[in-house]
Parts: sequence; C-alpha cells; structure tokens
Amino acid sequence: MARFYITTPIFYVNDAPHVGHAYCTVNADAMARWHRLNGDETKFLTGTDEHGQKVAEAAEKNGLEPLAWADQTSKRFRDAWDALDISYDDFIRTTEPRHYETVQKFLTKVYENGYIYKDVYRGLYCVSCEDYYTEESADAGKCPIHAKPLTEMEEENWFFKLSAFEDKLREYYDAHPDFVTPHTKRNEAYSFIKGGLKDISITRTSIKWGIPVPWDDQHVFYVWYDALINYLTAIGYGREDDEVEKWWPHSHHLIGKEIIRFHCVWWPAMCMAAGLEPVSHVQVHGWLLVGGQKLSKTMAAEGSVRLADIAPVQLTTEFGVDPIRYYLLRETSLGNDGDFSHEGITARYNTDLANNLGNLVARVAAVVTSKCEGVAPSPYVNSTLRESAAEAVRTAAEGWNRFSPQAGLEATWGLIGETNAYLENHAPWKMEPGEEVEIVLGDALEAIRIVAVLIAPAMPSVAQEIWNRIGLSGQVTDELFAERTKWGQFRGGHRIEKGQPLFPRMAD
Ligand SMILES: [Zn+2]
Repeated sequence: MARFYITTPIFYVNDAPHVGHAYCTVNADAMARWHRLNGDETKFLTGTDEHGQKVAEAAEKNGLEPLAWADQTSKRFRDAWDALDISYDDFIRTTEPRHYETVQKFLTKVYENGYIYKDVYRGLYCVSCEDYYTEESADAGKCPIHAKPLTEMEEENWFFKLSAFEDKLREYYDAHPDFVTPHTKRNEAYSFIKGGLKDISITRTSIKWGIPVPWDDQHVFYVWYDALINYLTAIGYGREDDEVEKWWPHSHHLIGKEIIRFHCVWWPAMCMAAGLEPVSHVQVHGWLLVGGQKLSKTMAAEGSVRLADIAPVQLTTEFGVDPIRYYLLRETSLGNDGDFSHEGITARYNTDLANNLGNLVARVAAVVTSKCEGVAPSPYVNSTLRESAAEAVRTAAEGWNRFSPQAGLEATWGLIGETNAYLENHAPWKMEPGEEVEIVLGDALEAIRIVAVLIAPAMPSVAQEIWNRIGLSGQVTDELFAERTKWGQFRGGHRIEKGQPLFPRMAD
C-alpha cells in the first residue's frame, strides 16, 4: 500500500495564527485529503513550536510561565485549524514529553557519532530569527528578513559539524533531483551548499526555555534544532512506538521559502549525522503578499499590514470555510509568491464559485424540476461530456500528484466550464419534455457528480453538499478516486433538491 506522510512547519506560539499559516496548512490538508481519497495510508502532522527566547519573553510580558503561555497560544492554532476544516492526524507541541525524549535520543546519537563538539561562538544575532548571521549574510548589520539591527554575541556552545556534510549533501542532491521542489528552490538550496558550509552552534546557555542537552546540563538545545526534530517525534523516533521505517521513506515537508536553509541544508545533514536518510521530499511554497509586502507578524508589527483584518477565522465568517480554502489553493501556484486581497477573494468567489460551479448545479436542478417533474434522468453512455470528464480527471490527478492543488482545480474548473457550455449548446430549458432533454440533463448530472469528487480534497463540505443535492447517498469519499470518477455511475430515478444557492453572490 502506498503511504503519504505530510507535515507543515510547526508554528511559533508567540502570536496568533494568520493567513500565511493558513495558506501552508490548507495546502497540506488538501494534499492529505487527496492521498486519502486515493487509498494511500496517510499521516498529516502539524503543531506548534514552543521553546526559545521569543516565547519566554512573550510569556513574561503577559505575566505567565512559558508553558502556560504556550498552552494558551497553541490552542489558538488548533481553533483556527478547526475553523478551516483541517484534517490533521496529529498535532504536536514541542513541550510534550514525547518530543523531549525523541530530541534527546536523536541528538545523543549525533553526538555519539562524533558530529557535535564544544567551542566558543561569536556572531551577529537576530532575536526574531533566533539565529546568527555572518557579516556577508547580514544586510549592512541588519537582519535580512526582519530589517532589525543585529546584536554581537559571544557564548560557549556545542556545535554541529555541518561542514562535514558538504560533499554528502551535494551527492544526495545529485542523486535525488526531486528532493526539493520547485526546482528554482532546489537550486537555491544547492548553491547555498556549494557556497561552503560552516559548523553551526546548536545549544544555548543564555536561555533556559528549551530542551536540556543530555550530556551537559548547563545547555539547552537551540530552538531550531529541537523544532526540526518534531517530524521524527510524531513517528516515534527512539521510542517504543517507533514507526520511522514505516513513514520516513514517504515523508514530505511543506515549508515556506524563508526556511529553506533549515529544512534543505541543516536538516538533511542532521539526519545523515544520526545515520538516517533525509526526509524524502521538501515542497517549498512562496509568500502571500499584501500590498507587495510579506504577510508576517513582523511586518504587521511595523504597521504596514493589519493582521487583525486577515485572521483566518474572520475570513471564514465572511466568505465561508470552503471558499477561503478554494482561494488559498487555487489563486497561487505552490512555490511562487502570491497576492492576497479581499478583492481577489471576492473575484474568485463570484466568478469560479457563484457563476461557474454554483450556477451549474442550480440550473440543472431547475430544469430537472421544470422538464422532468423533479426526477433525475440517467446519463447517456456516449456523451461528448464523457471525454471531457475523463480528460479533466486525468489532468487533475496529475496535478494533485505533483503537489499542485492549483493545477488539480484548474482542470476541474475546465470540466465545469465545458458542462456549462454543453448546457448552453443544447439549451434543455427550451426543449419539450422527453428523451432528448433527459439525455442532456443526465449527462450534466453525471459531470456534476464527478466534479463533486474532484473538489473533495479542496472543498470537503461543498463536495458533500453537491453530492446530497443530486440525490446520492453516503459520503462522496466513501469509494476511492479511481472508482468514483468512472463515467456512468449516476443512476437517476430519484428526486433532485433545488435548494438555496450554493454561493450567494458577494458585493464587489
Ligand atoms: Zn531576523
């Protein structure tokens, strides 16, 4: 049986979830749903990153212990994901005992393998990144991501011998051309490796809020090291419930482009150092841009974007859950940067959802009511729509399989468009009741049935609603994709619900 293990990054608990987090998580969710629909054994992991200086500072500012602060803020992410119908199988918190156990086992292994040593570290530090920069990588003394002045720091640290993996990483990249997609991002990581790798400090003594280093209790692991290992915690690395062999060869990390260095260079090297194969695939996504700036809490704090206006939960109240999911999946190709705007959502909603999909379902139900006494006819075996449907199913599956929900949905909307055109061409509303009108409507109903299956990973509730409206029983996902999308399964003979509009038009 095929397996699919997909992860989002774990999100920092020092702020509320925003649309950037939702973008990543909705894409991961749709991919997980796609693989479940294909019968793959699937595991979908998300969670929260709860250690480090920023979290400790935020907790103090709010008069709380770090864990109490993390409890509160971690829950906000789970609430947001509930609101967005995110079907994660596991939600990890890095403060859980299972994570402490895995992190200590994993890094002890790296230590025993001789890749961790002690030295003094001096560097330019960004508190927001919780990371050091070199003179070259800094932007005139400022953090290249946060544009804040860097602080000169010096401390005695444990170091990871990243430099020992330069050749091994290059060999790995050469042998696995699709390790990182899209390839523009793969090239970015590869040239970083080719530029030469320096050892990196992986512990801190200045911070207490972290996972203790098992062989040196004066140190805690630097938050990034502990965080990356979460992907192994969830599959039981080093513990009794160890399922690493089962899941790791089928692992996919979905990440934003700002964390390429951590996931595509450090992390595979750390895995190699522990004697483990790296994650099998990293899919990088771009940034959502509002008014040309990255949608992040840092930018918001500087006043250019009001995140309170674009919290995911608020959007679902305004537009509905599935329309927001659709917009996040459809508007931007994974890997590119994308625009995010209210106007953009409204346009997608009115055009794709209200005019194309909603109207298709509504007009077919209306003509069935007026010409067939409300009883659904069955499809014609050799309909011209049959070819269109088969082509859409093929193309959509191909898109989903290469991590492109956008391509999957584009193909689906192609079928919706052709079905609408088919209705326009035959104009069953002008026909006399009889066999001809039944053939046209039966074909359209079969196409709608297939559309419901095709949109299920993206819009699970709408898919089910359409399934019910055309009078089908059970869940749209009860059978596998390949079976469900075969032409000619719509039987007819039952009543069709007209119902309220699926997508009432929004004011522009
Ligand atoms: Zn920074």
